[in-house]
Amino acid sequence: MAGEQVIVIGGGPAGMMAAGSAGRRGRAVTLVEKNERLGKKLLITGKGRCNVTNITDLDGLIANIPVNGKFLYSAFTQFSNQDLLALLQRLGLKTKVERGGRVFPASDRSMDVVRALEKYLNENRVRVIQGEVTKVLVDAGAVSGVKLKNGDILPAAKVIIATGGCSYPLTGSTGDGYRLAAEHGHTITPLQPALVPLEVREDWIHELQGLTLKNVAIKLFSHEGRRVYSAFGEMLFTHFGVSGPIILSASTHLRPATPYRLLIDLKPALTPEQLDARLQRDFQKYAKKIFANALDDLLPRKLIPIVVRLSAIPPEKQVSHITKEERGGLVTLLKGLALEITDLRPLSEAIVTAGGVSVKEIKPSTMESKLVQGLFFAGEVIDANAYTGGYNLQIAFSTGYVAGSSC
Ligand SMILES: Cc1cc2nc3c(=O)[nH]c(=O)nc-3n(C[C@H](O)[C@H](O)[C@H](O)COP(=O)(O)OP(=O)(O)OC[C@H]3O[C@@H](n4cnc5c(N)ncnc54)[C@H](O)[C@@H]3O)c2cc1C
Repeated sequence: MAGEQVIVIGGGPAGMMAAGSAGRRGRAVTLVEKNERLGKKLLITGKGRCNVTNITDLDGLIANIPVNGKFLYSAFTQFSNQDLLALLQRLGLKTKVERGGRVFPASDRSMDVVRALEKYLNENRVRVIQGEVTKVLVDAGAVSGVKLKNGDILPAAKVIIATGGCSYPLTGSTGDGYRLAAEHGHTITPLQPALVPLEVREDWIHELQGLTLKNVAIKLFSHEGRRVYSAFGEMLFTHFGVSGPIILSASTHLRPATPYRLLIDLKPALTPEQLDARLQRDFQKYAKKIFANALDDLLPRKLIPIVVRLSAIPPEKQVSHITKEERGGLVTLLKGLALEITDLRPLSEAIVTAGGVSVKEIKPSTMESKLVQGLFFAGEVIDANAYTGGYNLQIAFSTGYVAGSSC
């Protein structure tokens, strides 16, 4: 019904898209955001550049969403990455495509994405108020409004919960939506960090802090030796363990406080035989040096003392005296540098929250609750999460659009 009151809780990408698209349908929309400004988390996305989406096709989008990707099929069909880019362009945002199909604002400024979404709110006459929703009011199985922390009651026939997850809580995403939904019978699947760095047991990791390894291959194994994940790309060492794109993606497949074994192939482009031949060439070149000084052509400087220590070759040994067996051991080490993963970093440091409102209780074509009439969900509050590459924001935009358009 035109003029019907719609309340959107949360002014992140999902909430702004939901509010704008509901307003476009002629609804009287109020967007309630507890921060003094909209899109606080959006501003820090993509290291301040905001990777808004990915230009892959529909199958590619779903393949990059390891948790409940299929649930989003309808939402992506109704509002795809191309639809998003067309809308952003109409709102004045120029974009560019980078490595792996990642899309960024041409200006490299996430602020410009927030501005485009604010324009969308303005042109669709969305009323934005600062406030914190503490309750969704339900009467006889149907939504009747929301209650704010200051005691105000805002009546509404439709309410969209777009409160995000509970990672990076200083941005305002403190998990309120899970509680608001659970109060009305919704199941919240267990919350845990996703796209999060990993902690390792080895002490020597501190010495590698800040080192980035490009073009390495990783494999992660469970305690029982089952391969859990493998990938090729970039990773980095931190003061507590490992991070970087392929590690963050790997974290999506791991459980907190559970041991895993990480093997890093430092030379994935070479077979063991090719690597051995390469070592022989280097060792001929540096025949008169000691082993500790013979790996400069092969490895980044920071990694050399670690590899020397972990190998069975004495560091002072003259290179010309290194045996074939010792070289073989070095090849095995370089093809599988082993680390023991002890835990994921905490939820507060995760790029996204895994778990959330169970998709079994949400209609995929409208994002409406199957339990409460007039209650909708959008964005990270839903139990769906993706790898890095712009997919998480596309989830927020598509589900936001669908929820807003269905009000
Ligand atoms: C450091 C970092 C970098 C990232 N980079 C990328 C990237 O480049 N590309 C990508 O695709 N994804 C990225 N992500 C993930 C992406 O930011 C989130 O998935 C996305 O912001 C989720 O959108 P949302 O609207 O559902 O929730 P949020 O963006 O979390 O917004 C929720 C809003 O609701 C408000 N709110 C919460 N509770 C209440 C309440 N009770 N009352 C009123 N308001 C409330 C909050 O203040 C907040 O503004 C990144 C995340 C982080 C932390």
